[in-house]
Amino acid sequence: MARETTQLAVLGAGPGGYAAAFYAADLGMQVALIDEEKNPGGVCLYRGCIPSKALLHVAKVVDEARHAAAWGVTFGDPAIDVGRLRAYKQGVVDKLTGGVGQVARLRKVKYLQGRATLTGPRSMVVAGSGGDTEVQFEHCVLATGSHPTRVPSLALASPRMLDSTTALELPDVPGRLLVVGGGYIGLELGTVYATLGSRVSVVEMTGGLLPGADRDLVQVLQKRLEQLFAAIMLNTKVVGVSEEANGIRVTLEGDVTSKEQVFDRVLVAVGRRPNSKIPGLDSTRVKVDARGFIETDGQRRTAEPTLFAIGDVAGEPMLAHKASHEARVAIDAIAGHRAVFEPLAIPAVVFTDPEIAWCGLTEMQAMEQGTSIDVAKFPWGALSRAITVDRPEGLTKLVFDPKDGRVLGVGIAGSGAGELIAEGVLAVEMGATAEDVKLTIHPHPTLSESLMESAEVFFGQSTHVYKPKRK
Ligand code: NAD
Repeated sequence: MARETTQLAVLGAGPGGYAAAFYAADLGMQVALIDEEKNPGGVCLYRGCIPSKALLHVAKVVDEARHAAAWGVTFGDPAIDVGRLRAYKQGVVDKLTGGVGQVARLRKVKYLQGRATLTGPRSMVVAGSGGDTEVQFEHCVLATGSHPTRVPSLALASPRMLDSTTALELPDVPGRLLVVGGGYIGLELGTVYATLGSRVSVVEMTGGLLPGADRDLVQVLQKRLEQLFAAIMLNTKVVGVSEEANGIRVTLEGDVTSKEQVFDRVLVAVGRRPNSKIPGLDSTRVKVDARGFIETDGQRRTAEPTLFAIGDVAGEPMLAHKASHEARVAIDAIAGHRAVFEPLAIPAVVFTDPEIAWCGLTEMQAMEQGTSIDVAKFPWGALSRAITVDRPEGLTKLVFDPKDGRVLGVGIAGSGAGELIAEGVLAVEMGATAEDVKLTIHPHPTLSESLMESAEVFFGQSTHVYKPKRK
């Protein structure tokens, strides 16, 4: 068996793992990065964020081209070549994963392709195509990610059943698509398929789409989705699926009149589960909680002092940017620097059209916790840039501490909300007040002005909205 000795091993090369490996290399550590794929990238680059965003970009172009008729410009109906679309998406994935692989080589990170089994707190065996390699390390970062949740009532072995991975392969554009789960994945991929021509129905078990987001933000998106989708069935569950000659027969339970419906394909997107069943993990003292997350402290150290865990396997929210931030904390801790994971704001973005983005304290959380807040909202109907691009449906809101006007949270629904939220994250992290945001000159005419004007609303002095402050 081949042998490698390294200071740091990183197991899993997604945005958590490769960020950890690269930062450690930058600090001068000797690093091995282990993953089953040919290049680093993880679910995000290969089967998640990146391919879905490539497809959502195409969906947006198709949608805008259709919408252009209202501005006096008419294009023909789009002719969709699924093969070329698939190739475009694959090209994006190859470019990024290949690029990250190149950056790993430049940093002299040893990339080992294969499946790892821990053999103790300081060693693992990586089974690769060329045989096994034993890797001995001083520390290891576990960054093994997550996988789609499987639900017994939806377990049916059929190519007509899709999860986020197979849906992104874009096998075809089905006539009738049922999306089970009105969360991030369901709504993003539902948007892609509906824009490409599928009749998309969504089933959501709770009383609203995107259960974690504030309702006023979701409302902006829902209005649009009610036009785009054939049906949105809330408070509804799928209790059974069976295959028949012309599709999947689905049995529904809840607020829905038609309890039996047939679809060409069914996409199940009901959450993700941590990949904590790492072979050999039981040869260490690492603890896994009841939900399957590896338990860590504020530095992302597990109960086994040589092992750290970051990203989806180490807890919610399961977002790439949370993983890469934790990566830096863990590596700093290993390097003996002062570091702790305690962000005030982790942005969440749903890349539908309009997008929904939020960070810090939401109104819903404030209500649940009994925290008193002030909220200032700026409707995009009064935002010049939104009107120039014919997207006046958006909304920007700031959540303030009523004592000192500190920005505690930001929520945005509208075209490009995912880009705009970064300013909100900075405001929350820097402890900015309503006055700071109000006095910061924002470029005109841009959608970013909505943040400044929301702060002006807080003082009852927004230039474009007449809303005097309550006495
Ligand atoms: P999710 O948690 O966002 O949504 C799942 C939805 O399914 C929820 O609304 C839930 O109430 C519903 N649900 C659960 N069981 C159901 C059932 N049996 N029938 C009907 N509805 C049911 O999960 P997801 O969309 O699968 O995404 C998984 C995770 O991946 C997300 O939580 C997120 O962390 C990550 N993700 C992020 C992005 C992004 O940042 N834009 C995009 C995709 C995925």
